[in-house]
Amino acid sequence: RIAEYATLRDLPAVTRDGTPIKIMLNAGLLIDLPHLHATGADGVGLYRTEIPFMVRASYPDVATQLETYSKVLDEAKGKPVVFRTLDVGGDKTLPYFPELGEENPALGWRAIRIGLDRPAMLRKQLRAMLMAAGGRELRVMFPMVAEVAELDRARKVLDLELARLARQGHKAPASLQVGVMMEVPSLLFQLDALLPRIDFMSVGSNDMLQYLFASDRGNPMMNNRYDLLSPAMLRVLKLLVEKCGAAGVNLSLCGEMASRPLDAMALLGVGLRTISLSAPAFFDVKNMLRHLDLRELSGFLDRLYDCADHSVRPRLRDFARDRG
Ligand code: PEP
Ligand code: MG
Repeated sequence: RIAEYATLRDLPAVTRDGTPIKIMLNAGLLIDLPHLHATGADGVGLYRTEIPFMVRASYPDVATQLETYSKVLDEAKGKPVVFRTLDVGGDKTLPYFPELGEENPALGWRAIRIGLDRPAMLRKQLRAMLMAAGGRELRVMFPMVAEVAELDRARKVLDLELARLARQGHKAPASLQVGVMMEVPSLLFQLDALLPRIDFMSVGSNDMLQYLFASDRGNPMMNNRYDLLSPAMLRVLKLLVEKCGAAGVNLSLCGEMASRPLDAMALLGVGLRTISLSAPAFFDVKNMLRHLDLRELSGFLDRLYDCADHSVRPRLRDFARDRG
């Protein structure tokens, strides 16, 4: 298996019918970074900044954050890294953050909502990212954006920090790309306003499943009740592929869905060309796509957008099995 993977690492991530695919990795700790080179992945599609926050005993200051983000960029050795701003609240808590006792934490004070209400926190985090990326490429992604106005406010904070950096004579990033997580369905109905404002978008399928189907992602009773391989989700993805494609916005998906080869196959069939997954899934997914006839799959998928039962997954499984 190891030898097989070593070969696979150096083979191009291209479908059998010739479409190149970008496979990126999800990361959160520095120990995740060596996987980038061991796998030959295209970059880090989701760097969860809350992970280093979660394993600490106190809130990290700017210098500590700067050190972390610099190391991440150093370790990436020029491959792109998407830094997601702090996504705490909901299922992710910080030991030194107040217990809020919310009745519905998943629908509560979390992610960018906290950042906008506590702008000093967001400013410090963005400052650390901008400083770490001085003279290098920086990609910043905001989590749980539900309204375009939230993105505008976050962007303003970013611009303030950029100006501050320039005033103090720090080197600016060589380039700056701004994106959002697509994980709150309200954003699907604001695409015309949203897309001209962003460079990239990454679908958070874990939260999108939760909010699209009103189904708690952490509740075992809800496990397997709804399926991402369903007409509703496939249509969401198809809409995003079309709209992002037309607007020139890079679309990716970084939820756990991308780490399951059958689900990843469906994502490519719907039209995604970039996915971000966990390192252990890398070679299985790469191997899958190298055997995939994308044109045949899109034709097959066209017949599944109106399935009224749970047959999308078994039908895709049959499709994959029949083709080895
Ligand atoms: C997601 O929601 O799919 C996602 C990638 O973000 P997280 O799992 O960190 O909420
Ligand atoms: Mg999420």
